[in-house]
Amino acid sequence: SALPPPRTRIFKIIVIGDSGVGKTCLTFRFCAGRFPEKTEATIGVDFRERLVEIDGEKIKIQLWDTAGQERFRKSMVQHYYRNVHAVVFVYDVTNAASFRSLPAWIEECKQHALGTEVPRILVGNKCDLQDSVQVGTDVAQQFADAHSMPLFETSAKSPNSLGDGSYRDSDHVEAIF
Ligand code: GDP
Ligand code: MG
Repeated sequence: SALPPPRTRIFKIIVIGDSGVGKTCLTFRFCAGRFPEKTEATIGVDFRERLVEIDGEKIKIQLWDTAGQERFRKSMVQHYYRNVHAVVFVYDVTNAASFRSLPAWIEECKQHALGTEVPRILVGNKCDLQDSVQVGTDVAQQFADAHSMPLFETSAKSPNSLGDGSYRDSDHVEAIF
């Protein structure tokens, strides 16, 4: 008799950072393949999914997007931080305040048992706005090293993240997730 088809494994990844850094656009880019025409402020928690194939196995990547600084209810928070496989911290390279908020987001995750034992990565978004950069690669890399996270500088808007006709493969949104 035929074996039942294997169940698709689901990887839950939460995307965290200040409001406006581009979390919704990044998750949209990854799941829909393009930059959204317009985004509305996320209310509460939202998630998007994409099926990928890794080593011949179909895996469902579930990206949980949040309302950033807006506080959601305690019951929601518990739900959000449960069964997380990886955490993506996002800041906006053109907004130093969003970078300074990172320790608070990292701390909040630790309080929900999401410390160094889960894969965590740091993403600097909006690299297409090269003339407005406030957070340089050096300072971001130091921060990433100090928190044992890999750093990806990217752009949800332009696949050409360096804005000069070139980009490092590692910076592409595809490479992050
Ligand atoms: P969220 O609050 O973190 O979910 O941020 P959104 O995804 O809603 O994006 C906030 C604003 O930044 C919107 O106006 C987006 O169009 C813009 N944005 C997001 N990602 C990028 C990017 O990579 N480059 C540029 N130039 N703008 C972006
Ligand atoms: Mg959003």
